[in-house]
Amino acid sequence: MGKQPSSMCPAFGAVRNLLRMEDAMPIVISSGDGCLYGHTFVAHFYVANRPIYSPGVSSEVWAKGSAFDELRAMVYEMAEKHAPALIPICSLCVSDTVGLPFDLLPKQIGNTEIVYVPLPAYSVHTHARAKDIVVDSLVWRLPPQRKTRAGVNLIGEIFPSDPIKIDEVLRKIGTHVNTHVPGPRWADYVAMVDGAVNAPLHPFYSESVKRMKMKQGLPFVEGAPVGIDGTYRWILSLAEPLKLDPAIVARVATEERDRVAAAISGHRLDGLNVMVAGYEGHEFLLVRLLIEAGANVPYLSTAVSSNPLAREEEAWLGEHGCKVLYGANFEDEIAALTDRPYDCVIGTTPLCAHAKELGIPAIYYTNAIATRSMMFADGAADVLALVTQTVAAKGRYDRIARFFAEDETALERTYTSWAPKIDLTEHLIANQAI
Ligand code: SF4
Repeated sequence: MGKQPSSMCPAFGAVRNLLRMEDAMPIVISSGDGCLYGHTFVAHFYVANRPIYSPGVSSEVWAKGSAFDELRAMVYEMAEKHAPALIPICSLCVSDTVGLPFDLLPKQIGNTEIVYVPLPAYSVHTHARAKDIVVDSLVWRLPPQRKTRAGVNLIGEIFPSDPIKIDEVLRKIGTHVNTHVPGPRWADYVAMVDGAVNAPLHPFYSESVKRMKMKQGLPFVEGAPVGIDGTYRWILSLAEPLKLDPAIVARVATEERDRVAAAISGHRLDGLNVMVAGYEGHEFLLVRLLIEAGANVPYLSTAVSSNPLAREEEAWLGEHGCKVLYGANFEDEIAALTDRPYDCVIGTTPLCAHAKELGIPAIYYTNAIATRSMMFADGAADVLALVTQTVAAKGRYDRIARFFAEDETALERTYTSWAPKIDLTEHLIANQAI
């Protein structure tokens, strides 16, 4: 039997990012019931009650062929009534298969940009790809690059304080952060036309970067200020495209590199075996940091597909004993858990849950790594301290594993001792655990 995708509808990666834009009112068009129900449910769960808009196209409307008219009427009504900066039209499986004439929609109504975002699951297989398509679609709509421009356009998911920290360092070498995408406003994208350099901080938005190269004609600087080597090289690489004073840039790069080295020396991971599985591209940077702190990371599993932006990071990781597995799925990761005696696993929720069952200290990527900075000295110290503290708690993970291994009825005994009058099966059904 073929392997099935183990995540929810890929389009949700895109819808989630669009819903986080404060001045956007995303319209989702697809099957009126199934897709929309799922997307609405998950949107409320993940995106703090931002609504999804939809013409709510029923099977009857699809059959009558009036779906496009309903969509167009809705776009006009929303633009005229609410005047958001942006109305992205997310076209999912049904509408894209039917082939609605999205080209006939207006590009602008008043000051509202109307942008078609194609997200059918037959060609968009992952959340990562769907997010890339959003940025790609928005970048294609940007006005032409300004003649007088300055500063660095940061591209990629990073911790909210990172652009501020990066800006502080860039100002020491004579430049600044111009904008950061994906950002919470359409203006964050529009500001890209004022930047002089694009800096994709990790190998995630590969299709968008291709489009930026075609449209903007700006120089690109790859990598990020993470780890000793990465911080030094990234700062140095800005000198030439921005025509900065090389002596000042070299001095600041050396200072920041030495600070990161000092931070790492206080949190060594020598000899530890760490497994890393991530999905938004900055797992490449995390592994760099772990390796520089002395950990063995035999492979990096990433949901990102192999792309030119990843080549440099992949080469660096390869030189340091780490193989990159692109598009690896959950089953492969589970199988690899018994490859060697891992001291720590950093990955998705189900992978970490499985690691814990085996008594391996585990860190949830989304909850614990993506919610902190890895950049410069402070970021390195914070992330490495988290890993050392987690590994130091190994005894607790062993107790959990023993608890489940010793007696298969242990869980039941615990439940019944808490609530002796409740039937366990009914209790679990009531709590939707089974
Ligand atoms: S858009 Fe496609 S993959 Fe997503 S929920 Fe609808 S039918 Fe399923």
